[in-house]
Amino acid sequence: MGARDAWSSIPYRQRQAIKGELLARDGLVCCVCKTPIASMSVATIEHKRERNAGGALLDYNNLGLAHPRCNYGRHGSSQRTRVIDARAFF
Ligand SMILES: [Zn+2]
Repeated sequence: MGARDAWSSIPYRQRQAIKGELLARDGLVCCVCKTPIASMSVATIEHKRERNAGGALLDYNNLGLAHPRCNYGRHGSSQRTRVIDARAFF
């Protein structure tokens, strides 16, 4: 998918800098499930809206830190999405 490809093209160091900005703004808290994340090394960057729904790639208002399972759960298999839905996070 185009959005994922574009995100992957951002240099690693720039992505680390973005994570630092999000940490300063939000703290080490998952933007999907609102619970703490163990460490920055496992935190991922989540797009709160899909880009094709109006979210810009580098719009900080559209970005937040997330657990890997929360981030990939939203974009990944329907099975993972169902698990998250069952926990009433949305
Ligand atoms: Zn989470």
